[in-house]
Amino acid sequence: MKAKVGIDERGLRHDGRRPDEMRPVSMRVGVLANASGSAMVEFGKTKVLAAVYGPREPTQRFMVLPEKAILRVRYHMAPFSTAERKNPAPSRREVELSKVIREALEDVIITSEYPRTVIDVFVEVLQADGGTRAAGITAASLALADAGLPMKALVGSVAVGKISGTLVLDVDETEDSAGEADMPVAAAPDLGLITLFQLNGVLTEEEVNRGLSMALKAIEQLVAMQKSVLRQSYEVVEE
Ligand code: ADP
Repeated sequence: MKAKVGIDERGLRHDGRRPDEMRPVSMRVGVLANASGSAMVEFGKTKVLAAVYGPREPTQRFMVLPEKAILRVRYHMAPFSTAERKNPAPSRREVELSKVIREALEDVIITSEYPRTVIDVFVEVLQADGGTRAAGITAASLALADAGLPMKALVGSVAVGKISGTLVLDVDETEDSAGEADMPVAAAPDLGLITLFQLNGVLTEEEVNRGLSMALKAIEQLVAMQKSVLRQSYEVVEE
């Protein structure tokens, strides 16, 4: 039987989480041997792989800038990532999300160190259960750091939603499709920067502010986790 979506009499969500609780988060780096950097991030059942290639010379020479590297991002959902087979051809949503993810990351990479090159980031959704752009941004930032690219800060991301009038952190697909609003946020807490802020649905001004605080608090924890995963991977290399 399908669990009721909403908030129950104990104040818990359909999967037993408190409103301000994320799904279990898992992060790993260095998961692909052929990439310059890679990461796998899981928010509950949402599983996203990010792979970074470069900085490298592009095959088409005209695609360069004399003063900095160009960041290219492709967000893609694997055909097997959803319950119904997804058309593998890039959808409008994927094109849009690729741009949004690039913009969420562009300002933290010190691209001026690699003029005339491109940095390719592939965000591949292996399993989709809501929050794939947030998990994707978190994974891509980790993969860029794993590639050893100079970065001003790490970026984490999570979405806040509204279910039965209550603000909830890290909405899954069931909540997203039944909820009243969905507000993905990405931020670089070490720089005090918000690099993505979207709102689908309707929230009051007070809810937007409260939701943003909720997201930023969770992002601080995500970034702390990214740092710890990167530190561990360096320790392994240094042994
Ligand atoms: P996000 O994954 O960032 O929350 P959306 O709000 O667009 O992005 O999508 C919410 C969820 O809906 C996705 O995580 C995924 O589980 C599901 N979804 C999106 N697009 C498709 C699709 N083409 N086929 C099946 N499920 C999809």
